[in-house]
Amino acid sequence: MAWRFALMIDPAEPDDARTDFTPTFTEVDPAAPALSVGELSTQRGDGIFESVGVIDGHAQEVQAHLDRLAHSAELCDLPAPNLEQWREAVALAESRCGPGESVIKLILSRGVDHGPAPTAWITAARAADFSQVRVRGVRVVTLDRGYDSGVPARAPWLLLGAKTLSYAVNMAAIREAKRRGADDAIFVSSDGIVLEAPTASLILRIDDVYLTPAPNGGILQGTTQLSAFAWLEQQGLATEYRDVPTTQLHTADAAWLVSSVRLAAPISEIDGTPIAIDADFTARLNEYLLSPRD
Ligand code: PLP
Repeated sequence: MAWRFALMIDPAEPDDARTDFTPTFTEVDPAAPALSVGELSTQRGDGIFESVGVIDGHAQEVQAHLDRLAHSAELCDLPAPNLEQWREAVALAESRCGPGESVIKLILSRGVDHGPAPTAWITAARAADFSQVRVRGVRVVTLDRGYDSGVPARAPWLLLGAKTLSYAVNMAAIREAKRRGADDAIFVSSDGIVLEAPTASLILRIDDVYLTPAPNGGILQGTTQLSAFAWLEQQGLATEYRDVPTTQLHTADAAWLVSSVRLAAPISEIDGTPIAIDADFTARLNEYLLSPRD
């Protein structure tokens, strides 16, 4: 997947009221080196990011992604991003995405070691083809996240509710899931509460209620889950944020991993036990997620 657009951003103060931030953007060759070797994003994973899905040149749910970027920045003690500046950068990147599915990444790093300012940039590229997985689904295994459900409140410095660049653990969990013969993982707390997947939120259907674990600091608030819940509610379907004990996972009659680029991947198996795929419903959900959303 070749990068085809990259923009370095000179971060503006949050109260900078400019209406045209073009002078703060520098388009760079996506194939050329652009970061300093002193970058704390690469040395320490010290920064935050967002991945925005783009459908036929329309960036999806930009405001929700910007809100989460600002939330992550606050949790990480990074300077508050100027959201209008980021919105304009996303608009520029989106204008370079052609037909089909693309992904725009927003990255805000703490910057260069001992440097004066954070480093910010945006990339855009064609997205991987997830059309099969949206139909065929994913087999998942539950993996212990290694902390109990009191940890987010007890140890906020673990930054569990922030979308940080430190995804090594998440990637290791997916590799472990593959070693166990599955495609993906569902993290559970050490006291047996269902959390999220390494790169997606979980939605379960139990007794006709669409459930997702509450984003109470221990997991990310998923923009796709938020959007899916709005769509479900429009149709009069019941949604709920609820703590789900791991022991209740098998009571779901359908389940999905949802995220901005893969969209809704139905779960076909949990820890080796098959779970039915509701093909019609999944197709309608993905049709909605593929339609232009703001
Ligand atoms: N949870 C984690 C840990 C993620 O990394 C992601 C997305 O990358 C999500 C949930 C889903 O978030 P979104 O729907 O905004 O893509």
